[in-house]
Amino acid sequence: MLDASRLLNAYGVTAVDHQTISVHLIEAAPRLLPGLSERISQTAQQELESMGVTVHVGTAVQEAQEYQLVTGDGEVIETDLNVWAAGIKAPPFLTELGLSTNKRNQINVKQTLQSVDDPYIFAMGDCACCPQGSDATVPPRAQAAHQQAKLLAKNLEHCLDKKPLRDFQYRDHGSLVSLARYDAVGNLMRSSASRGLFLEGWLARQAYASLYRMHQLSIHGAPKPGLAWLVDKLEPLPQATYETALKTCKGRDQPAPLVS
Ligand SMILES: Cc1cc2nc3c(=O)[nH]c(=O)nc-3n(C[C@H](O)[C@H](O)[C@H](O)COP(=O)(O)OP(=O)(O)OC[C@H]3O[C@@H](n4cnc5c(N)ncnc54)[C@H](O)[C@@H]3O)c2cc1C
Repeated sequence: MLDASRLLNAYGVTAVDHQTISVHLIEAAPRLLPGLSERISQTAQQELESMGVTVHVGTAVQEAQEYQLVTGDGEVIETDLNVWAAGIKAPPFLTELGLSTNKRNQINVKQTLQSVDDPYIFAMGDCACCPQGSDATVPPRAQAAHQQAKLLAKNLEHCLDKKPLRDFQYRDHGSLVSLARYDAVGNLMRSSASRGLFLEGWLARQAYASLYRMHQLSIHGAPKPGLAWLVDKLEPLPQATYETALKTCKGRDQPAPLVS
């Protein structure tokens, strides 16, 4: 929201003034990004607050009404727009397959990725609840799904060849959190479970951009991401005002309605 309003302001559209936008982030857990390290949580909170976001941690939403949220402490926050992003759940049909599932509808699997109920049914990625260590489970993240896919391919072969299956060991290669795109408040961090390298600011943004290009490369092959990179480089953030852009494009001197 803050980024979008700044960009609109840069075009000369002042109806949405970022100075008057008030963004509240309400998190029930004691800290933001509870799945990541405390250092990332703290830095993310500081960055968000420096962008003007009011962060409420340890605060559950009790009630959501059209123009207000009521928290567990009875605080009323007036709102124009509510965005609900409180966790993920696998599709309900997974609970109807006759396999045991957890409260997130994920299929309970062993470390071999075999369902706990049937050794010939495998599950991986977000739809699987795979144990990790004594009391944790593998997080629903892209790198976990990617690593599990590789192991599953091997385990399926082993299963057909009647060889022992291998256990899944999740390796956390770190996390990058994008907090904004266009200006200096953009902050990206990387940390691994052990003694990871902590990145922020420009370096983290470059790491994030490289990761993004690597994903494009693995999906599309080299030519398309190469062209996309070139286009991005040739198209810097436009500095022209909204009126100038309109005149240039259409020769009009009155701004067109944003929504027709
Ligand atoms: C907004 C968002 C941001 C995220 N950001 C990150 C991040 O920064 N880093 C990170 O590591 N992880 C991130 N994740 C998590 C990551 O996307 C998932 O952990 C990862 O995609 C899981 O891979 P998967 O193959 O298990 O499932 P998916 O990638 O979800 O693939 C499942 C596929 O199955 C298809 N499907 C569903 N139901 C059916 C059906 N009945 N029949 C046939 N096909 C079906 C779906 O359309 C989908 O294509 C994010 C997730 C979300 C939602």
